[in-house]
Amino acid sequence: MTINFNKNNDGLVPAIIQDSETKNVLMLGFMNEEAYNKTVETKKVTFYSRTKQRLWTKGEESGNFLNLVSIQNDCDEDTLLIKVNPVGPTCHKGSDTCWNEENTQTFGFLSQLEKTIQNRKENQEDEKSYVASLFRKGINKIAQKVGEEAIETVIEAKDDNDDLFLNESADLLFHYLILLQAKGFTLNDIVNVLKSREK
Ligand code: AMP
Ligand code: ZN
Ligand code: ZN
Ligand code: ZN
Repeated sequence: MTINFNKNNDGLVPAIIQDSETKNVLMLGFMNEEAYNKTVETKKVTFYSRTKQRLWTKGEESGNFLNLVSIQNDCDEDTLLIKVNPVGPTCHKGSDTCWNEENTQTFGFLSQLEKTIQNRKENQEDEKSYVASLFRKGINKIAQKVGEEAIETVIEAKDDNDDLFLNESADLLFHYLILLQAKGFTLNDIVNVLKSREK
């Protein structure tokens, strides 16, 4: 890999540190060629610390190492994107990321939808909301809806009308998210169960 360490005439390139699984950005550091080589050799992310003016292996004191997964160069070879598995919180102030965020798994649009559903659960009196009305009716009714949508999905799976199948699938997933919320769980809880089954 060709890296242009001298764009800034200081022998350093910025390295964006991203959690390879959650995709959250954890921190930003700088690397010189030596730090880069050491990172590749040891598989523990090592920076050149501008403050300490020496090589600095993240975690050397705290034990919160950044285990290397991959390194990518950007389009003009002057910025690195480094994917890692972090050990513990990455920021020395104790938070998961240097932007005081939690490094939790999110699922883009589905997580947004999950938040909306949570909001309806917390505001059940909302008369205009279908989701709020389901929460008012309670778990049994919600579970029954999931059952109905599952059966409708099965029926449409046997046909070859893609549009109907996709719509029933969406109904099923939507009502399933409501059931999870009613039971006090999140998509992440389910993903963790699935992950624990992985060999
Ligand atoms: P560590 O590398 O985690 O053992 O931390 C050693 C020292 O490096 C800390 O006391 C901070 O001065 C510095 N440090 C650790 N993590 C960060 C970070 N994410 N950003 C900036 N400085 C850090
Ligand atoms: Zn660039
Ligand atoms: Zn920090
Ligand atoms: Zn349906």
